[in-house]
Amino acid sequence: MREQVISLVTHRTNQKGFSMIYKILRHNDSHMQEYYEKAMEELKTFFGLNWSVKPPKVFIVNNREDIDDLYGKKTEGWLVAWAERRMVFLLGKENFEKESTHKYGEEGYLRLIKHELSHLFYQSVAGTDKPRWLNEGISVYLSGQLEESPKVTTFSKFLDNFDTSGSYTECGTAVKFLVETHGKEKLVELLKELHAGKVEPETFSGAFTKVFGFTPEYSEFMNLWKPEKVS
Ligand SMILES: [Zn+2]
Repeated sequence: MREQVISLVTHRTNQKGFSMIYKILRHNDSHMQEYYEKAMEELKTFFGLNWSVKPPKVFIVNNREDIDDLYGKKTEGWLVAWAERRMVFLLGKENFEKESTHKYGEEGYLRLIKHELSHLFYQSVAGTDKPRWLNEGISVYLSGQLEESPKVTTFSKFLDNFDTSGSYTECGTAVKFLVETHGKEKLVELLKELHAGKVEPETFSGAFTKVFGFTPEYSEFMNLWKPEKVS
């Protein structure tokens, strides 16, 4: 089995600009490798996409300076992982708390890998990364990150003000409700509609309504709510 988790070492040649030359090291973390393989199998099943040729690789980045170099601009302290093309970049666990505003937890750390891999599947199946709420919602839902967050009690942000705090939990919950009430097949059907070019992102609402039978609005998502029974 080829290793899919790789460490990066930057050789900064110019303190003013971004380094363009990197040295790759194999990252021997069998726990991460196993998690990656399990996550990939689950994502393949969910998205109905057998991604076996040139599967995505995970690159572990050492520190904030290297994140900025690889990302291509100065990043905020909350940014610890991102995905592009067939690559996931993730801040290494050793420097996780020192180089970010997040607390380190083993489970939460691994979930970041699945979250980012899910974005790559989304892009592949939908041919776009939009709309953001659906893309992030699927990543949050599939990675299990909802388990780390307080339960949402209402929907009020994720469709309009995505950058406000709490949006990730809201859209993850909205996706959870969609899957639980309508099945994941409908969700994948919607992504394929996007990829087929039948709908522009602006007319996403029309495509959504065609597949789910209701418009993507807060009140409609509230209607999917099934309060958990308290015993
Ligand atoms: Zn994301």
